[in-house]
Parts: sequence; structure tokens; C-alpha cells
Amino acid sequence: MGGIAETVTAAIALGGNLGDSERILVAAIQAIDREMGIAVVEKSHLYKTAPIGPPQPDYLNACILVKTTLVPRTLLQRLLTIEHQFGRVRQGRWGARSLDLDLLLFGDQIIDIPGLTVPHPRLHERPFVLVPLMDIIPGWPHPIFGKTIAQLLAPLTISGVERLAQPSSPPILQWH
Ligand code: AMP
Repeated sequence: MGGIAETVTAAIALGGNLGDSERILVAAIQAIDREMGIAVVEKSHLYKTAPIGPPQPDYLNACILVKTTLVPRTLLQRLLTIEHQFGRVRQGRWGARSLDLDLLLFGDQIIDIPGLTVPHPRLHERPFVLVPLMDIIPGWPHPIFGKTIAQLLAPLTISGVERLAQPSSPPILQWH
């Protein structure tokens, strides 16, 4: 007999810099929300951010909060499947991509298994992740460092992160 699955709140980062990134990110959020066992509960603004690494187009970034009954490995598998559905083309580790989805936080859990590290190992040093997270979970404590998102962001130099106006027409999902 099955039990009642526990619901956990998780944070996910979205990014992309190939194709119509605004439409891709908004449609990806809709696809995540349609998954069984995942409900999107908060969305950040969209941010245009300067690329790190080799020369490439600016990125569009956002973060969302979901409630999920899935275990972390299954949640990541669903996210990777959605990445591929949106025709992700990778050009090296730091190269351009149409959609990148990262599992940032999964409740207060610390996970380190092959293919999955949570909290995401670079979350605390990336303004393009921390700035969108400030929109939705400024007071969330990092499970390893114990500092909130606001405290992690405070010492960082924020450059090349620009909040966009509301998505242009037609919005696929209502955005705030
Ligand atoms: P990247 O596209 O460079 O972010 O790398 C994606 C790969 O990183 C995936 O195949 C995952 O197996 C692995 N990975 C490990 N931890 C995470 C995480 N927290 N979120 C997303 N991908 C992760």
C-alpha cells in the first residue's frame, strides 16, 4: 500500500541565450508546471545577464519555486527531459544553450550523489542566480552555509544583471 508522498519546496534556475529566450523560459515554466507531482508556486522577474566564459550572447535568467512530491533524482530527470524538449544545443561547458535548468535547493536537504549535487555548488557565487532568488526567497537559509539568499548576495559585486520589463506579448503564463 502506498503512503502519502511528502511535499517539498524546491528552487529551480532557468537560463538560456540561444533562440527566443523569453518565450523559451516562459514556455519551460509552463512545461514544469504541467508535470505530474510538480506545481510552480512563485516566479522571479526575468533578467538579462552578461555571459561568463567565452564570448556569446547575453543570457536570460529567472528562478522559480515549486512544490513537489517527487524525490530529488526524479525531479532532476524531469528537468533534464524538459531541457532536451526545448532543443538544447550545447557548445562546451560554458557555451551557449537554448535552455539550462538547475535544481538549486530541495527543502533543507544536502544531496551529493552521482549526477546530482544540491544545493547547487555554484549557487552562492552567482549573481545571475541570487538576484532572481531575491525576488522569491530572500530569507531562505542556504543549508550548508546557513546564510540567507540576501546575506549571500550582499558581499558580491552585481554587474551585468538587468531586470526586464514584463514579458512582451503574448504572455504564455501570467508573469506577476
Ligand atoms: P550543466 O548543464 O553544466 O549545469 O550540467 C548539467 C549536469 O549537471 C546534469 O547532467 C546533471 O546530472 C548534473 N547536475 C548535478 N547537480 C545538478 C543540479 N543541482 N542541477 C542540475 N544539474 C545537476
